[in-house]
Amino acid sequence: LARNLDHLAKLPCETADGHRIRLWVNTGLMADVVRSLERGAEGVGLYRTEVPFLLRDRFPSEEEQREIYREQLQAFAPRPVTMRTLDIGGDKALTYFPIEETNPFLGWRGIRVTLDHPEIFLGQVRAMMKASLGLDNLRIMLPMISGVGELEAARKLVDRAYDELVDEGYAIQRPPLGIMIEVPSAVYQARELAKRVDFMSVGSNDLTQYLLAVDRNNSRVAGIYHSFHPAVLQALLQVVTAGHETSTKVGICGELAGDPGGALLLVAMGYDVLSMNATNLPRVKAALREINKSDLDRLLQQVLKMECPEQIEEKLRGYLQDLG
Ligand code: PEP
Ligand code: MG
Repeated sequence: LARNLDHLAKLPCETADGHRIRLWVNTGLMADVVRSLERGAEGVGLYRTEVPFLLRDRFPSEEEQREIYREQLQAFAPRPVTMRTLDIGGDKALTYFPIEETNPFLGWRGIRVTLDHPEIFLGQVRAMMKASLGLDNLRIMLPMISGVGELEAARKLVDRAYDELVDEGYAIQRPPLGIMIEVPSAVYQARELAKRVDFMSVGSNDLTQYLLAVDRNNSRVAGIYHSFHPAVLQALLQVVTAGHETSTKVGICGELAGDPGGALLLVAMGYDVLSMNATNLPRVKAALREINKSDLDRLLQQVLKMECPEQIEEKLRGYLQDLG
């Protein structure tokens, strides 16, 4: 297996008929970086900045953050690293910043928290930009965007951080700014959002949860948490179509990208970037290198006519089995 992985890591990710796909990784810890590089990751589609925050007993200072972010950026340079601003709330609680709510997933989460605490957001974005000095492989991504207003408010803060650093003498480039599409309202506004950003990335974990009204962490309802639900697939198609109307690159960084069946459908839909856990990267790459994009388009057309998730899962299982 080790030799097989090594061999795969050096090969490009393209379908048998030459359609190129960017296979990126999701990271949080430094350990993820080593595994990702061994497996031939071409970039980072999601660096979850809340991970270092969760490992501490107080907010890390701007300088501490700069050091942590620098390690990530340096390890992957010149490959792009997409750093998501703090996504706490929901199931991710900091002991030193308790949030008590009846419905945490519908409450103070992600961008909502950091727009209410601009000092946290500014410190983070300044640390990211300082860390990228001389590397210029940073991309900044905003979580839980539900509409244009939040994006514009966050952009103002990013611009302010950039202007401050330039005034302070840092010779930095302005990093691309993107958003996660993981709230249903953002699916319906994907066109308006796409016009305003450099890239978009679907968070299929939360998007599934919010579209189906199924808690992603509740084992009692795990049986009806279906990322292959026809409604989820329609949403995924709508987002990539809307993004491409303005030539905005669209990726996905939820678990669906690391599922070989999911990856086949996403490539057929036209997703530009699939970002996944490093563990799943070799098998997704192996599956994609086996198939022709034209066959995938046919598979997608068949799947889009199906009316329930079980039928779709069954179809994909059969398809992957035939691939061997
Ligand atoms: C997602 O929601 O799909 C996602 C990638 O973000 P997280 O799992 O960190 O919420
Ligand atoms: Mg999410």
